[in-house]
Formats: sequence, structure tokens, C-alpha cells
Amino acid sequence: MPRPTRPERGKPKRNVAADDKFPARRRLRRKVCRFCADKKALINYKETRTLGDFITERGKIIPSRVTGTCTWHQRKLAAAIKQARSIALLPYAATRI
Ligand SMILES: [Zn+2]
Repeated sequence: MPRPTRPERGKPKRNVAADDKFPARRRLRRKVCRFCADKKALINYKETRTLGDFITERGKIIPSRVTGTCTWHQRKLAAAIKQARSIALLPYAATRI
């Protein structure tokens, strides 16, 4: 069994690895749901311009943790995107980029 090492004397070294893993205060500004902020902005399956902001270029729905959309609106958004996909207003998946 190895002997326990004595703690180093002098100035304590900064834990660089831990700092990289947990950068202090990465996001100060809280993201706000676009649809809650703007009451006029409606979620409609026919408005592909609006829905297009919430899908990737691959056609995937962007998670709310990225866009900041609230749960209630994210659900409405996902439903509208799926509806738009079914009538080919939006792609299910991009075949070529
Ligand atoms: Zn909202």
C-alpha cells in the first residue's frame, strides 16, 4: 500500500482542469421565450418562416435549451413543425446540404 503523500507546501496550485470543465458564469443573460415575449408572434404550421428558425439545416427541431423557448411553446412549436412536415412545407430530413 502506498504511503499517503504529504500535502504540498506553499501557494496552492490552481486547478486548471476543473476550471475548464466548469467555467465560472458562462451564461449571465437568461434566455427568454420568443413567443412569450412577443404576444403577436403566433405559432402556425403555415408560417414556415417562423418555424424555420427553430429547425436545423438538417431539418431537426432545435431543443428548447438552445433556443430558450418555454415548455408550453416548444410543444406547440414541435406540433406545428410536424404538421408542416406532413404537408411538405418543411423537410423531414435534408437529403443534401
Ligand atoms: Zn413561451
